[in-house]
Amino acid sequence: MTTATHEETLGFQTEVKQLLHLMIHSLYSNREIFLRELISNAADACDKLRYAALDNDAIFEGDSDLRIEIEHDQDAGTITLRDNGIGMNRDEVIENLGTIARSGTSEFLKQLSGEQQKDAKLIGQFGVGFYSGFIVADDITVRTRKAGTDASDGVEWRSQGEGEFSVADIELERHGTEIVLHLKEDAREFADDFRLKSLVRKYSDHIDVPVRMPKVEKAHDEEGSETTTWETVNEATALWVRPKSEIDDDEYKAFYKHVAHDFSDPLTWSHNKVEGKLEYTSLLYVPGRAPFDLYERDGARGVKLYVQRVFIMDDAEQFLPLYLRFIKGVLDTRDLSLNVSRELLQQDPQVDKIKSALTKRSLDMLKKLAKDDEAYQTFWNTFGSVLKEGPAEDHANREKIAGLLRFSTTHTDSATQDQSLADYIGRMKEGQEKIYYIVADGFNAAKNSPHLEIFRKKGVEVLLLHDRIDEWLMSHLTEFEGKSFVDVAKGELDLGEVEDEEEKKAQEETAKAKEDLVKRVKEALGEAVQEVKVTHRLTDSPACVVLPEHEMGYQMRRIMEAAGQPLPEVKPILELNPEHALVTRLEGADDAAFGDLAHILLDQAIIAEGGHLDDPAAYVKRLNALLSA
Ligand code: ADP
Ligand code: MG
Repeated sequence: MTTATHEETLGFQTEVKQLLHLMIHSLYSNREIFLRELISNAADACDKLRYAALDNDAIFEGDSDLRIEIEHDQDAGTITLRDNGIGMNRDEVIENLGTIARSGTSEFLKQLSGEQQKDAKLIGQFGVGFYSGFIVADDITVRTRKAGTDASDGVEWRSQGEGEFSVADIELERHGTEIVLHLKEDAREFADDFRLKSLVRKYSDHIDVPVRMPKVEKAHDEEGSETTTWETVNEATALWVRPKSEIDDDEYKAFYKHVAHDFSDPLTWSHNKVEGKLEYTSLLYVPGRAPFDLYERDGARGVKLYVQRVFIMDDAEQFLPLYLRFIKGVLDTRDLSLNVSRELLQQDPQVDKIKSALTKRSLDMLKKLAKDDEAYQTFWNTFGSVLKEGPAEDHANREKIAGLLRFSTTHTDSATQDQSLADYIGRMKEGQEKIYYIVADGFNAAKNSPHLEIFRKKGVEVLLLHDRIDEWLMSHLTEFEGKSFVDVAKGELDLGEVEDEEEKKAQEETAKAKEDLVKRVKEALGEAVQEVKVTHRLTDSPACVVLPEHEMGYQMRRIMEAAGQPLPEVKPILELNPEHALVTRLEGADDAAFGDLAHILLDQAIIAEGGHLDDPAAYVKRLNALLSA
């Protein structure tokens, strides 16, 4: 090796410094993962070189036998990892080993609290990658050269993992990357043959690049000097290629951590080999927790794509719909060309076919997972609101997706969304034909809505929807198992056969008897309402507002208003509870008091619905007048 030239010292990006600091502090009890991260990078580098060599064989520089080598020196306290993958040039080294170039990074860092266990979880979610080397090392040297460049294009990177790193140009015979970890005093246990081998097996069996380590007993050549003989420590076959029956759960889990860059176990997986019109193997996973960028517009999503075992790209997002963006895994197919690029994927008709097949697999996998209540609840709490985007995005699978949704309902009156539509249907009253729901801003607003009074009285269950996305979701769900959905706060109240003839007749009579009152209220409120009626929806409240059936609900209005959307004015229908004392009082009021009381009833009903009053001060004034009368 010649001397280093063009040496410079650079500062880590602020985010890297923060990550390093927090990571070293919080991942102490998880230190061994550094090896997984570094092997994973080396394997990725080999994959990338194999891909680059598809149309340029020369890039192998005559060394197409891709491999990873790990050596250690117990006395010196070092571990060395070497790969003959793609390598990096100087600019790439500075970019990749000096910054974190992912969207959402600073938001992520803000969530870290300094509380060890919590942070360890979050950092795991984020993925520590290369920097994890500093959990065990206080000095790391990286020597790398990009495949296909000159020996003089080597780069040496060095850092103690504090604020800065140095880079220099060096001469490097072989392409690829070599990483030397100088272990911290308290991490020297890792410089041990047995320990390293068992870690390699634990984390890297499924990687199809061989990971080699020197044989313990040294061989001697003819002159009697030592030569290193290598042995392959991992299985070194791509996991998904092996028959299912030969893969155990731990191997599936370890592979998940490699593809998903996650620390924790997946909830479930589905491994399928398909032959026939389409030919592909897929291994899809449902993660146990959300990645930090789940709601980032440009967050990483999609599967790792291989064509005939050759790695093509990470995050191929064309093979799964957006509402399944949390699914991780691998797709290996014969139906695409090795030269496929992101652009070409967009035009290839095979892609859509595979996409609908993988969508179906994913939905089936979730359906299976749903048999385990606890696991499914974890899934739902983590990804439910993403899955709720499904009915709008994927009409063909609407019914299937609906079956996977979970809700709060009046049956449990709990904010936890854990009831399925099938559960609901199983509890439907005799004569009930519809699935009733209410949408509100929060769980309590939904649960305590006056609209539910009659339903509670009759023992008819109502779904309590309280997520931001819910009103939009329901606008795309019209029926499930032939039963239509009805918003209890909109349109005519229709309880079907849950009400008997006698009740209906009694209601008509009341309506007749109150015709004068209704007319008077309508006159008093004028343009503020579309219509006034008596209702039997209510048992405890004096009044409620109802929106016309196809009108946008109050929740959606608020979201649109917040987004600055101009909205047409909505005129509610005011419904009065003829049994209520306030309504009786209204009937007996003189003209002056009548108008005020009628307005108060209307405004209260709007407030109970989570709506905004046009003139809240007027409401307060009227109310105070009434209270002090
Ligand atoms: P990630 O693997 O999630 O991209 P890492 O922090 O592990 O993040 O690595 C950062 C980047 O550094 C990688 O994306 C890759 O470009 C580069 N890199 C790391 N290790 C190697 C290696 N052995 N060979 C080539 N490039 C590497
Ligand atoms: Mg990595």
